[in-house]
Amino acid sequence: WDHTNFAWSKLIQQTLRNTFNAKSFRSLQLLAVNATMAARDCLVLMPTGGGKSLCYQLPAVVKPGVTVVISPLISLIQDQLHHLSEMGIPATVLSAAKESDNSIYDDLRSSTPELRLLYVTPEKVVRSGKLKTALQRLYERNMLNRFVLDEAHCISAWGHDFRKDYTELRGLKHLFPTTPIMCLTATATRRVQDDIVRQLNLPKCLRFFDTFNRTNLTYEVHPKLKGKQMISEIKDVIVKRGLMRNKRVQCGIIYCFSQADCEKIASELNKVDRSAGDHTRFPKRLKAVPYHAGLPEATRKKHQEMWQRDEVNIICATVAFGMGINKPNVRFVFHHSMPKSLEAYHQESGRAGRDGEHGLCILFYSWGDASKARSMLMDSARKERAQPAVLQNNLDSLNTMVSYCENMADCRRTQLMAHFDERFERSRCRGMCDSCAAINAGVKFEETDVTNFVIGIMNIVRSVPEGIGIGLLVDVLRGSAAKTVTQKQYNRLPGYGAGKGLDKSEAERIARAMVLRGYLRENTVRSEGAGPFATTVTTIHYNRPRCEAIQQGREQFKIAFS
Ligand code: ADP
Repeated sequence: WDHTNFAWSKLIQQTLRNTFNAKSFRSLQLLAVNATMAARDCLVLMPTGGGKSLCYQLPAVVKPGVTVVISPLISLIQDQLHHLSEMGIPATVLSAAKESDNSIYDDLRSSTPELRLLYVTPEKVVRSGKLKTALQRLYERNMLNRFVLDEAHCISAWGHDFRKDYTELRGLKHLFPTTPIMCLTATATRRVQDDIVRQLNLPKCLRFFDTFNRTNLTYEVHPKLKGKQMISEIKDVIVKRGLMRNKRVQCGIIYCFSQADCEKIASELNKVDRSAGDHTRFPKRLKAVPYHAGLPEATRKKHQEMWQRDEVNIICATVAFGMGINKPNVRFVFHHSMPKSLEAYHQESGRAGRDGEHGLCILFYSWGDASKARSMLMDSARKERAQPAVLQNNLDSLNTMVSYCENMADCRRTQLMAHFDERFERSRCRGMCDSCAAINAGVKFEETDVTNFVIGIMNIVRSVPEGIGIGLLVDVLRGSAAKTVTQKQYNRLPGYGAGKGLDKSEAERIARAMVLRGYLRENTVRSEGAGPFATTVTTIHYNRPRCEAIQQGREQFKIAFS
């Protein structure tokens, strides 16, 4: 599909230069354009900023007829329409609010519609009989050139952003069998790709994908600190890691877990802490605004625009912020809490450095956040009566995310790429992650056999059927004489003191690794109280079938320590 001698090849090169003002196609664009021009179904996977829009906008320009673009967000569509109108390409949107848009329907009915790109939301396609009839008429007249499904991963429950409306698009191929479909996404594992193709019934779909590697981004995981300490840590990182230019903080995003967190963090960042020297460290300004679904629409829009225009430096946002953000000079993306999967992390962190310049991506991680996220997944699955397989998939995704955070021994980039079925050798990372940087600085990670400590932990946990908190477990393992241990007579448990030589963080890492690898189970119960984060109690339990091989000496347990 990379030929340049198709009947349309000359025309597309001309259009690329004259209309789109670009010199050449980027790696996958030509393949996708040729495939869709040849009426083939295709799935295009390109990182955010890769240039997905051109893959269907250019074909829409070169041939009369209508390209229907199904896109989930009106704000995203408005953005596209703005660009298209600047280029003089006839395009419009049919949204739920504009059912009575007769002039659009009149145009669609004309023998050669003037319109080239018709943007619609999935619910519009699914629910509007009027639109369906109009599309049918276009199809019969050979004027329905293609469907484009933007953010196609939303159709899959295995993906990280499932939307029910998308599943109702499954009938498209049946209704319009000869109209090619182009699916676009920046994020899909092999399993999600297969699901997209299966659900839309595109057995001969061509798949084009680029590497998921973003060479200009640095990936790091830092321990998450509590409250104000975390705020000063963020400010320190900004200063020490060169995220200032001309005495001004550069543009960044901080992803937060809750609406309340967005508000709190933005307001704390705006405060000047004179004792920490903020007034000299940030002479021009450090201005942050919150962004989340709880804000009135006008405020949300205003905050986004202020950030977009560099009037504020930092936007503290929930994951509601992101789709369609097209700001090239984002210099850092911090995660104040853990994303729900590595795909989500890849996509959210991928909003940094879209201009090709360096971007710093730091994830502030705590084991407690992981426990909370796990218990929330279970709660919401219970409430929504989710299928057990879907819940399990979500828990597995979270587990992979946590394992990434816990694993500093392997190159972060290798881990991220592996998730997208790509092999990546550490040597190519060039110190652009915390693990490789540590190794370059002389740190050695060594696989250590910790089976003895693991057996000690198993013996302790097995003797406490009601469950034990991880902090207490570690104390017992290390043979602590603390009151909390002696009061419960845990100093008499088998396994007490089995990890005497370990320091606290090592012991914790072993226990966490045992949870992540399924030897121990975590159980989080919400104690009485209000709000989603009313105090929770997390205890660790013995998973007998999984532990037997180790208990019987048939298996070893290794972990990489530095
Ligand atoms: P995506 O939808 O994949 O996130 P966009 O389609 O918004 O990315 O494109 C990102 C940016 O790259 C846009 O500013 C676009 O104009 C630019 N771009 C896309 N293709 C090319 C190209 N072949 N040459 C130069 N710039 C391009």
